[in-house]
Amino acid sequence: MDKVYIYKAADYSEDTMRALAKNVFAPYGGATAFLNGRSKVLVKPNLVTKKGIDTGATTHPAMLRAICEELLAAGAEVCVAESHGGTYSKSAVKSQFEACGVTNALKDLPVKLYTEAESYIAEYCEGTVAKSFELIKPIAETELIINLCKIKTHAMTLYSGAAKNTFGTVPGMRKFELHARFPAICDFVRMLNDLHLSLPVALNIADGILGMEGNGPTAGKSRSFGFVAVSGSAFMCDLVCADLLGLREVPQLTDAAARGLCPTAADYGMSNLNKEEYDALRIKNLLLPDSKPRGKVAALQRVCGGRVIKLFSPRPKINRIVCAGCGKCAEYCPVHTIEMKNGKPQIHRKDCIACFCCQELCPFKAVYIKTNRILKL
Ligand code: SF4
Ligand code: SF4
Repeated sequence: MDKVYIYKAADYSEDTMRALAKNVFAPYGGATAFLNGRSKVLVKPNLVTKKGIDTGATTHPAMLRAICEELLAAGAEVCVAESHGGTYSKSAVKSQFEACGVTNALKDLPVKLYTEAESYIAEYCEGTVAKSFELIKPIAETELIINLCKIKTHAMTLYSGAAKNTFGTVPGMRKFELHARFPAICDFVRMLNDLHLSLPVALNIADGILGMEGNGPTAGKSRSFGFVAVSGSAFMCDLVCADLLGLREVPQLTDAAARGLCPTAADYGMSNLNKEEYDALRIKNLLLPDSKPRGKVAALQRVCGGRVIKLFSPRPKINRIVCAGCGKCAEYCPVHTIEMKNGKPQIHRKDCIACFCCQELCPFKAVYIKTNRILKL
């Protein structure tokens, strides 16, 4: 199993980022040795929202720049590509790069920012639930991917890190089609793992200098976790990060462990740290997403399983005062269960699959998660 290298870091200053970029490749003998003759590199950041780098939701441009510089110095041709949530078009991608500070951060480097917004179908016969994926075009032309993700809690998948970040290789609205095709969380995470395994990901860099807790991936609170984790295996990387955050039973990792891609539980021995150093990085009192079943809901879920729990499960609700009536939630709901009525969205609960895409994509934080009152008693 791949080792996880953990580096303490507290800020995104130029000096910290330069040192980090060197550290990231150091265990592999440096960037040149890591590339080992391969030159076409795609760096996949997380640019899920335009809400700004201080939210902890998106890849910090200073970190992206430092990694690109290190790869360029090793002779790589570097392309940065990402498909954020929402429409995947040339203008939308360009505007996302600009809003996330990427265009400005990389403007003087010979790095290609992929904005053509083209896609292709990639077959993946080994997939357990999905045998092919529509992917953004540069994936077809790259030799390896550097997966530059954020460490966050997630309303649907509980944790979002390396293996979840590669969902951003699926173009825009195709992501919502996959949500609709795999409405149950157990199938959805299997699809995510199929997708991740189909890609030539060579290195995963999980940034927790400023991560997110609570209603991630976009509507949570920023929190400094104070470390960056690096591994050749996204699953090992996620297992260790989730452990440091105190998260157990992460569905995507449960599936990965069942496939033999990582152990069922993390241990400091999987990392470069000794027990004392590892334990010192543990995050206390992490804020969980409101969607996470707890107390009586969690107990009921264990006893009754899916159907009964659907009646009581947390569901998205609209704060009609905050809602600006932009209609994005209705446009992107994978199962089209949101209807705009008199300029405001109405959720038809019966068909809701609790994917929380509406919360993720609402630009005004007008979608919140409500738990059944009976279960709070
Ligand atoms: S996306 Fe948010 S602001 Fe826009 S209509 Fe939906 S709830 Fe209202
Ligand atoms: S209403 Fe929201 S949570 Fe429910 S299916 Fe639509 S996008 Fe997902």
